[in-house]
Amino acid sequence: VFEPVYRLGSDGIPEFKAFVAGKWVFGERFAEVQSPIDGRVIARVSVLSRDQVEEAISAAHSSGRKAIRNYPGEKRIESFLRAAELMKETFEDFVRVLVLDAGKPKSNAAGEVKATIERLEKTTFESRAILGDYIPGDWSEETLESEGIVKREPYGLVLAIGPFNYPLFIPAAKVIPALLGGNAVLLKPASADPLAAILFIRILEVSGFPPESLGLLTIPGGLMDSVVADKRIRAITFTGSTEVGEHIVKTGGIKAYHLELGGKDPAIVLDDADLELAAEKIVKGMVSFSGQRCDAIRLILAQEGIYGELKARMLERLRGIEPKNPLEDENAVMGPLIDMKSADYIEEVWKDAVEKGAKPLTEFRRKGNYVWPLLLEVGKDVLPELRAFQEDVFGPLTLMVKVKDEDEAIEIANSSRFGLDAAIFSSCERRARRVARKLEAGSVFINEYPRHGIGYYPFGGVKDSGVGREGIGYSVIQLTTTKSIVHNFR
Ligand code: NAD
Repeated sequence: VFEPVYRLGSDGIPEFKAFVAGKWVFGERFAEVQSPIDGRVIARVSVLSRDQVEEAISAAHSSGRKAIRNYPGEKRIESFLRAAELMKETFEDFVRVLVLDAGKPKSNAAGEVKATIERLEKTTFESRAILGDYIPGDWSEETLESEGIVKREPYGLVLAIGPFNYPLFIPAAKVIPALLGGNAVLLKPASADPLAAILFIRILEVSGFPPESLGLLTIPGGLMDSVVADKRIRAITFTGSTEVGEHIVKTGGIKAYHLELGGKDPAIVLDDADLELAAEKIVKGMVSFSGQRCDAIRLILAQEGIYGELKARMLERLRGIEPKNPLEDENAVMGPLIDMKSADYIEEVWKDAVEKGAKPLTEFRRKGNYVWPLLLEVGKDVLPELRAFQEDVFGPLTLMVKVKDEDEAIEIANSSRFGLDAAIFSSCERRARRVARKLEAGSVFINEYPRHGIGYYPFGGVKDSGVGREGIGYSVIQLTTTKSIVHNFR
């Protein structure tokens, strides 16, 4: 299946093509892709020239848009189901690519491939969201003699931009609803680990989608401004940092945006919580994929009475967890951070916190881009000054704060500029629900750490964490608009 998308270079390293105007082509040069596991160059990826980017946009905008609209909905669904089957056959290839390219522990990589397959299969549910509405006119004097049909319409050409941390699932969760809604789509995968996305586009092509309706822009993020600003692109679905998200909106001007940005997810632990459960779930929420998840727990707000006990139980669990080479240890919980720069950043933010008075509860340990879990205790008065609180920290660093009661926890949680998710641990349903109602967050998890799986429940942020909702039956709404057709009978 994958043969047309790469060749082996003279040194045996695979050199990947991009997908432009329905064809696999090499770019004007290559960018090297390094494995975060050991820094080895594992592939070279085509960097498209300006002319090739123009060709991709122009083909998707002209013939691609028409081709996908003429490919009926039921055919699109058949193609998604075929793609799911093909991904089952190539499951191990995808897992291996995610381990090597993103440095994912094997279980995380396998989980991501499974989630992508399931997401392809669940488009059968998603299609229900695009049926549209019928609105009778007889509720208003002005429209008494008319009735309207509200039809879901594609935007035309959608640009999907994905982050490095779920380099397969997130592009899939954007491209699938874009196509399902009848749009042509150009995908820009993360530059750090673009390989799984390249293979995924190939799977969709083989599954029968009109080739011109798909495009793959493997160019560095910094060269994206003219693409983002291009008026032929009418909607952008972006997942990544708040800073890049904001830059995209400013550059893109008037378009539809779906933005999934950074988070600072708090876990609120009340004094009636099952502390063993809370410690287990919070530690998982901190360290899974080395905290390189938008929904990682970055702040623990624990009530006075149980603070010490929770801390002791968490430290007990954290003692046994360390980053490992995912190729050497298949059961690794933590692997490397995506690159050295990310590890340098975590170190900087940790130092800033310690200098400002935070107390390290775990020792700072780092070997290259492998960073051990970091837990810091901090007083609520200094918290707002810490970079670790203000910035979108993407790694295994979590702050722990003692709070008087749930109102204080809510106040601190809501003082963050982010509002992606939150977790509450309590044995009292009523108390937990009361807190949940007051939190400024897109999703609240009770007695669970924030995790979104295939997007069965919709998710997304408020405040600086984003705009719009991702999920089955929801993403397709973001990537389509409505047209009202009004019949007048007078
Ligand atoms: P990033 O913002 O650095 O990059 C994201 C993507 O944008 C990459 O493909 C990058 O090449 C591209 N890009 C960079 N500059 C661009 C520009 N000027 N124009 C257009 N595209 C540009 O993010 P990252 O480091 O890849 O991913 C980590 C970030 O993603 C974290 O901030 C995390 O919180 C966020 N994230 C959010 C969610 C969510 O659902 N809210 C999920 C996963 C990751």
